[in-house]
Amino acid sequence: MNAIKSLSCRECGRVYPAEALHVCDFCFGPLEVAYDYEQIASSTTRETIAAGPRSVWRYGPLLPGGPAGGLDEETGLTPLVKADRLGAELGLKSLWLKNDTVNPTGSFKDRVVSVALSVARELGFSAVACASTGNLANAVAAHSARAGFRSYVFIPHDLEMAKVATTAIYGGNLISVEGNYDDVNRLCAELTSEHPDWAFVNVNLRPYYAEGSKSLAFEVAEQLGWEVPDHVVVPVASGSQLTKIAKGFEELYRVGLLADEPAVRISGAQALGCSPVADAFKSGADAIRPVKPQTIAKSLAIGNPADGWYALETVRKSGGVLEAVSDGEIVEGMKLLARTEGIFAETAGGVTIAVLEKLAASGVVKPGERVVAFVTGNGLKTVEAVAGHVQPTVTIPPSMDAFAAAMPAAASR
Ligand SMILES: *Cc1c(COP(=O)(O)O)cnc(C)c1O
Ligand SMILES: [Zn+2]
Repeated sequence: MNAIKSLSCRECGRVYPAEALHVCDFCFGPLEVAYDYEQIASSTTRETIAAGPRSVWRYGPLLPGGPAGGLDEETGLTPLVKADRLGAELGLKSLWLKNDTVNPTGSFKDRVVSVALSVARELGFSAVACASTGNLANAVAAHSARAGFRSYVFIPHDLEMAKVATTAIYGGNLISVEGNYDDVNRLCAELTSEHPDWAFVNVNLRPYYAEGSKSLAFEVAEQLGWEVPDHVVVPVASGSQLTKIAKGFEELYRVGLLADEPAVRISGAQALGCSPVADAFKSGADAIRPVKPQTIAKSLAIGNPADGWYALETVRKSGGVLEAVSDGEIVEGMKLLARTEGIFAETAGGVTIAVLEKLAASGVVKPGERVVAFVTGNGLKTVEAVAGHVQPTVTIPPSMDAFAAAMPAAASR
């Protein structure tokens, strides 16, 4: 079991005890988990990691909390797929996909929830809550069921049917709110002060929760033989995942697990119907202007992203870009990924692949670069996005003649 570290303010550096706190009292900056990197470096090697659990918890020394059992044991260490067929279509020689569609509840949110719930347990909470665009709802409800927490999950009322059913099935409290995610989030911020006895995974436990996304960078480096890619493409909603992937690569170097200082270009992907961070990147702005989301990529539909500014800064510093794609391009991206690599991703995956395609076509992603694209959620949860765009090749009566008539080339041999 790994002891909880302290928290420190990202803006002014003030140190706080490792409790359910998320903003600095002095400057209102976000709090982050602080580690003793020297101690981690002295006790963590590639070998100790390789001998660890086959889950996110193999990187336990660099995460808050510790493995609590349950769905933890199945979360993370997802495949890094060498995508040669997709790469050939896009003109990229060294393309990999981090396939998080195979996590226990079908998205990368299992990583952040695994970490948040283990911290919730250490801090003595018996109830957990979250504001979700869908995938976080699934993960919080499922992990709570297995771990024995009461759960209160808040979602916008217009989510995909599958995301509602695959949350409600776990039997916790599911509260559908008549508003968009930003309305849900505001309500949850108010509820957090009313309910200090609830561990709100993405509000009062946000510093811990966010750390879970670093495991994506840790796994990619380990799976590439302890090397980093040249360029990664990451979908952006709140922006947390993108900033933590960057932090993950840096930490590996800091604790001596990488030979060279990583220079990974980090590019962000958004839907045109909700692209506040990409808009700021393109206009050169320093502030994120909130938008009202209107896109089929509902898991990314955060109009006022909490970590938007940090994501923008991370992309700029790394030499990456932010790009956005239309709903039509998102569906084409989902189809392209499925057709070439046999992976059915949700709309967020369509956003990532469509943006990757755009960046490859414009030369931002270069043919010889080692590229990793993060495919963060399973397509079975957003089937309505492709309904009407894909259908049977033909529909026929059950007879040989009908088949021969409908598909003469296939029927004759
Ligand atoms: C939540 C989510 C994201 C984005 O995560 P942020 O950390 O909020 O930017 C990406 N993909 C999927 C499938 C998600 O559910
Ligand atoms: Zn501060």
